[in-house]
Amino acid sequence: MKSNGEVVCPRCGVKMEYRVEIEFGENGSKKIRYYYRCPRCGYRESDLLIIVRRDGAGKIVIEKEEYIKRVKGR
Ligand SMILES: [Zn+2]
Repeated sequence: MKSNGEVVCPRCGVKMEYRVEIEFGENGSKKIRYYYRCPRCGYRESDLLIIVRRDGAGKIVIEKEEYIKRVKGR
């Protein structure tokens, strides 16, 4: 039984790497992207996207959270 949450590339069947990418936007906003990437062919599959920004008082606000793959169970 295989249920350790491993994600395999649909193209070449290789175990995909879990990566995080942070993109800095205007006014101190950040886009944090979690995704799986195949080390062989470069295929990407998004997992989670979070957009963080600061409000007028300098407080951090999580603007958007999108679960793409995380909720899906196998
Ligand atoms: Zn691949």
